[in-house]
Amino acid sequence: MKACKNCRYIIEQGNVCPACQSTDFSDKFNSQIIIFDAEKSEIARKLGAKIAGKYAVRIK
Ligand SMILES: [Zn+2]
Repeated sequence: MKACKNCRYIIEQGNVCPACQSTDFSDKFNSQIIIFDAEKSEIARKLGAKIAGKYAVRIK
């Protein structure tokens, strides 16, 4: 698994972030958070998450 350095979205395969189309990833991240409903979630708003999925809380 790796996390997008731009928006912190976590992907398990592929090379393009489905959330922001970035191709800049890091496999070094701490905890992860699952967003089920990006539009209604308070956490999603704080993270800047736009789509549902897993996000890294902190990228090293
Ligand atoms: Zn991204």
